[in-house]
Amino acid sequence: MRDENPNSWEARADTNTFYGFTDLPSIKERGTVVLTHGEGPYVFDVHGRRYLDANSGLWNMVAGFDHAGLAEAAKAQYDRFPGYHAFFGRMSDQTVMLSEKLVEVSPYERGKVFYTNSGSEANDTMVKMLWFLGGAEGQPQRRKIITRKNGYHGVTVVSASMTGKPYNSVFGLPLDGFIHLTCPHYWREGLEGETEAEFTKRMAQELEDVIAREGADTIAGFFAEPVMGAGGVIPPSEGYFQAIAPILKKHGIPLVADEVICGFGRTGELWGCQTYDFMPDAIISSKNLTAGYFPMGAVILGPELSDRLQAASEAIEEFPHGFTASGHPVGSAIALKAIDVILNEGLLENVRALTPKFEANMARLAENPNIGEWRGKGLMGALEAVKDKDTKTPFDSSLSVSERIANTCTDHGLICRPLGQSVVLCPPFIMTEPQMDEMFEKLEAALKKVFAEVA
Ligand SMILES: *Cc1c(COP(=O)(O)O)cnc(C)c1O
Repeated sequence: MRDENPNSWEARADTNTFYGFTDLPSIKERGTVVLTHGEGPYVFDVHGRRYLDANSGLWNMVAGFDHAGLAEAAKAQYDRFPGYHAFFGRMSDQTVMLSEKLVEVSPYERGKVFYTNSGSEANDTMVKMLWFLGGAEGQPQRRKIITRKNGYHGVTVVSASMTGKPYNSVFGLPLDGFIHLTCPHYWREGLEGETEAEFTKRMAQELEDVIAREGADTIAGFFAEPVMGAGGVIPPSEGYFQAIAPILKKHGIPLVADEVICGFGRTGELWGCQTYDFMPDAIISSKNLTAGYFPMGAVILGPELSDRLQAASEAIEEFPHGFTASGHPVGSAIALKAIDVILNEGLLENVRALTPKFEANMARLAENPNIGEWRGKGLMGALEAVKDKDTKTPFDSSLSVSERIANTCTDHGLICRPLGQSVVLCPPFIMTEPQMDEMFEKLEAALKKVFAEVA
């Protein structure tokens, strides 16, 4: 519980910090958890309490909180060349090497990389690239962006407009021209008696209908996370990408995979588009790109978009866009090391090795009468709480069931995230089997306690 002393860390945090994406009633009651350091998948607060962070920070600390190699890569680069930009025909050697590496590990034979400081900026950049292409190629009306409800693409004005969550209405968003299709979540959106294959077909038909209604030549691009993350860990329905990719192709609409969470192994393959077997025209990366050790994002362009954007830029002599810290040398050095760690220190293998155990435990917890479904892919999953399993009726939102579950977990040294009526797990790739047992034991105890209170 909250320490009411005015000099407590909790009080000091409140006084001078304006919170984002934070449930303020919970803070009032419980206080902010102020952290000092981490060890492997654990973090420690100012009171010396230890928490197993089952969310890898914010999906991104996949190598844990004390990876010596990543810290050393950062220190070595700070000593060598601590900062530079990538404008005006100059950039660091680390940036050159990172672009080579990203293209090498991408699904593309060749391509080009553009750097940002976040996933939101990478999505914004991609939209500007598509708008720029429209103008350069004699189709300035090609500006509309299609995404899906529950899709999360970030918080800048454009990426928030892409995000299909109702909370953005408080900002008067989305902007005009951002269209949100039905979330391809069969369990929640499937109609009575509809098979999953029929559902997927209906999703594809909706896309066809929207393209026909809006006019194909007004649409600049379609963005999708392979597995929706912040929307509640929602894998696509069976065959979804196989159904929509040909429609987009037929109408000349680029398909952009927002791989900010799925990228670098979360779903068991390096990229989510490999897990779901489709080829996007570009990839948006961030979060795991530096294993969370530096703020960095990247747009990875496939061959066709690389060529078209290069030609459009040459026609006016430059692409007038970039961030001061784009392609930062320290971020680039860390990203190079993070990719090496994920690929060559057994992290990706560990995701694959742990997935069956993760799935078995999720399935076991989903037998609870107040869990409607479990869903996920690789090492990301969600358990959705329901009042009535047969009718999929949610609990009254005033009960804040998922917050209660997460808060109970926190009290027992486990951090997991409430998302809508779901509880989300996405453990770091370095997790061990005993740590996974600890995670599920603590979560199971919290589920029992909270469902006994509310059911
Ligand atoms: C987190 C996230 C973003 C936004 O990244 P920021 O670095 O927070 O701006 C974009 N897309 C997806 C899929 C994300 O999970």
